[in-house]
Amino acid sequence: MDLKENIAKVRAELDAAARAAGRDPSGITLLAATKTQSRETIRAAIRAGVTACGENRVQELTAHLAEDAYEGAQVHFIGHLQTNKVKYVVGKVALIHSVSSEKLLRAIADRADALGLVQDILLEVNLAGEQSKSGFAPEEALGAARLAASLEGVRLRGLMCIPPRAARPGDNLPYFQKLSRLAVDITREMLDNSIDMDVLSMGMSGDYADAVAAGSTCVRVGSALFGPRPPMSSTHD
Ligand SMILES: *Cc1c(COP(=O)(O)O)cnc(C)c1O
Repeated sequence: MDLKENIAKVRAELDAAARAAGRDPSGITLLAATKTQSRETIRAAIRAGVTACGENRVQELTAHLAEDAYEGAQVHFIGHLQTNKVKYVVGKVALIHSVSSEKLLRAIADRADALGLVQDILLEVNLAGEQSKSGFAPEEALGAARLAASLEGVRLRGLMCIPPRAARPGDNLPYFQKLSRLAVDITREMLDNSIDMDVLSMGMSGDYADAVAAGSTCVRVGSALFGPRPPMSSTHD
């Protein structure tokens, strides 16, 4: 695997997809999904131009933070987060993408309050109603956004989704368009709260070009950069 080459290839495809959609390529963050990667690989990715890393598991985040793996880049949390683990994440990452319940939202805000900081967050939306996945149902998202706006410890920056694995190019485009529309609708409904929902976290190795076509500002890419991963023992840690 040639990390540099992979990064250049994905970045070129993102830029082309942005231009095809009449968008500025600089508005799209390539977030490296670094689950199971070593500190050395993460550092090599950052040296090769990666500006943001996304971690899935609290344990890996904590270990990599302790060994300064992310120096020179931002780190985000993108995985399933349990309420009892927010203390390992709040204040330690630039953005939590995966806020999937009101209980978790309140726990993050409480922890941020206790630390005297404001945590940037996204709401995860389960667009396909998949039982196996976390996230707010689309019709719950506005209520969750209103709750976020009422909590001092969090700043709502946008929405995130993990659609079903695409079988063919284009399969997930309708989901991405739906998330874009939902963000617009929520912003319109909440004009009084002057929220700044400028982040749409959507698109992975199999579908990032479609996500950019639909307005993604942050694609989370793992295997297209680092190669195939060994199977994980669990997606929840
Ligand atoms: C692993 C992961 C990704 C990246 O997946 P790839 O298909 O390897 O690009 C993106 N988002 C989340 C939440 C992930 O867990």
